[in-house]
Amino acid sequence: MIGLMVAAALLLAAAVVAVDRYRTARIMARLDRMVTQAMDGDFTESDFDETRLSALETRMARYLAASALSARNLRQQKEQIAALISDISHQTKTPVANLRLYAQLLAEQPLSPQGRDCAAAIDAQSEKLETLIQALVKSSRLETGILTLHPVAGDLAPMVERAAAQYGPRAGEKGVTLTVAETAGDAVFDAKWTEEAVCNLLDNAVKYTPPGGTVTVSVRSYELFSAICVRDTGPGIPEAEQSKIFGRFYRCPGAWQTEGVGVGLYLTRQIAQGQGGYVKVDSTPGVGSAFFLYLPRNDRER
Ligand code: ADP
Repeated sequence: MIGLMVAAALLLAAAVVAVDRYRTARIMARLDRMVTQAMDGDFTESDFDETRLSALETRMARYLAASALSARNLRQQKEQIAALISDISHQTKTPVANLRLYAQLLAEQPLSPQGRDCAAAIDAQSEKLETLIQALVKSSRLETGILTLHPVAGDLAPMVERAAAQYGPRAGEKGVTLTVAETAGDAVFDAKWTEEAVCNLLDNAVKYTPPGGTVTVSVRSYELFSAICVRDTGPGIPEAEQSKIFGRFYRCPGAWQTEGVGVGLYLTRQIAQGQGGYVKVDSTPGVGSAFFLYLPRNDRER
């Protein structure tokens, strides 16, 4: 009799465990389906009958529905920003180009020395405005993910040499020696955008280095990253300023005599980060600065 009761109890316990396991497996399967749908971006709460869900599943479904909604809102906002940016860049292009044209036509008229200075100032300010709009459009496109980088594995030398060649004449005019040292090295990088980042570094190096100074560009490969280094013998950057110079519109207090709008390094950092890299500065006031653009050497680092 006792044996029979023990057997019945064991049977009952086994049945309870089996039912519990079956229920847990169903909950796990439904949770798995919810998360998979959410990851694919097609989660809808109505796909799951709430009356048959456990409390945990209901909470998970609500959470995923809320995040799907905010992802949709974010997508819409991005699309609106994209449209706004493209409107701004399109609508300002012609007036700014016309401003420059009229300033140049004005400069060709018989003017007093003061009038000539004013015409030159209008042209310079319009050019600055043009640069600023272009830089802002680029940086917000990168920031909002409208513009994506397409890094591919390749040699850095051709891109670095192309960038340096663009600054040779400007350096020469200013009496700054621009040297291209060792450029052999490889990385996984977007050639067009990385060239723009290197150009920003070279532009600054040539711009801030006084006549008689030198700018050297080189490449060095490490185990995981390759670094493009632009070194100059310019005024250097005080330590307290070094973390600020990558901020949007930031210019060091001593930079006011030199033309600039303060977005070059900000854009350079965005370009580096957009492909899994980073930018570093090493500078000593009165001696010079070295900017390093690190780029991953293989896809795993990105
Ligand atoms: P911009 O040069 O247009 O002002 P950037 O974003 O390129 O803007 O640089 C930010 C600031 O960092 C500059 O205003 C300048 O003060 C400082 N800086 C950048 N590069 C150098 C350099 N090579 N030597 C000295 N100062 C530099």
